[in-house]
Amino acid sequence: MSVIGWIGLGNMGAPMTANLVKAGHQVRGFDLSPKALDAAAAGGVTPVASVAEAVKDADVVFTMLPKGDHARAVYLGADGILATAAKTTLLVDSSTIDIESAQQLHDSAAAAGFRFVDAPVSGGMSGAAAGTLTFMIGGEASAVQDASNFIEPMSANIIRTGAATTGQAAKICNNLMLFISLAACAEGAVLAERLGLDKQVFWDIASVSSGDSWALRTWYPVAGVVATAAANNNFAPTFTAELANKDMGLAVAAAEATGTPLEIGAHVQQLFQRLIDGGLGAKDCSAIVTLVDGTVDQLR
Ligand code: NAD
Repeated sequence: MSVIGWIGLGNMGAPMTANLVKAGHQVRGFDLSPKALDAAAAGGVTPVASVAEAVKDADVVFTMLPKGDHARAVYLGADGILATAAKTTLLVDSSTIDIESAQQLHDSAAAAGFRFVDAPVSGGMSGAAAGTLTFMIGGEASAVQDASNFIEPMSANIIRTGAATTGQAAKICNNLMLFISLAACAEGAVLAERLGLDKQVFWDIASVSSGDSWALRTWYPVAGVVATAAANNNFAPTFTAELANKDMGLAVAAAEATGTPLEIGAHVQQLFQRLIDGGLGAKDCSAIVTLVDGTVDQLR
């Protein structure tokens, strides 16, 4: 049994920690939200009142926070992880954050004498609950190896990506491709219907043809075709437009920093931004189909 500190018990952190508890570890969790703390406690996490309490005597500390700002505050703040944890504690950031913040966390952790890895995940809330997430881990090889041992109960795939920040790089590029695929599904689905194709017949063709993708098989944005699609529930969120916009923003920022033209990616980000500007940021990201079929106003 290990002692695990966990900061950030939201949609992902709560089910991930439940799997660590099931594997026999003691998990001490902290979140700013009392509701999130209660939910995690129901899964067997010991709720605590501060970062310092969560990290005390921990073998490893995980963070699962919304954005780079939150991760920097939790690691680098006056009462943050670097100021309060023992130097022997391994630090693992599983949030999806920008490359610059990730580099800053690696540098600050190393300067303070800690081992730190960036280890974002793919697989969504269902993968978090099932313990089948894909982890992509960047950092120094022995720290990555040690982190992998703790990660095992939460994951189906653990992939070592290389040097510091390459885990975040993999995550950002994967999600760039995902959301472009989703936008392609939205356009293809609406056009197919307007050309007289039955929605199921078209999906049956595309799913065994060159139009196939994970987005098509999992998030197809037309109701009554794919069981896991948010379109079946009036776009109640499985992955919000807000989060999709954040991830596309990370890709656009990384592209600017590397002089890479992301014309399609930048445009897809604008589609999510339009949903957010229209008050639909909390809806599922697949609601971008409503910008294609013209039903966006009915969703508000
Ligand atoms: P969430 O908003 O549900 O949870 C984040 C939690 O962090 C919240 O409970 C919030 O109260 C807490 N928090 C924020 N600042 C804090 C602080 N200073 N101290 C303590 N707690 C703090 O988000 P989520 O869906 O769990 O996502 C977490 C990360 O995982 C994000 O970076 C997201 O992009 C990524 N991710 C999410 C999914 C998904 O399907 N939801 C999938 C893969 C990756």
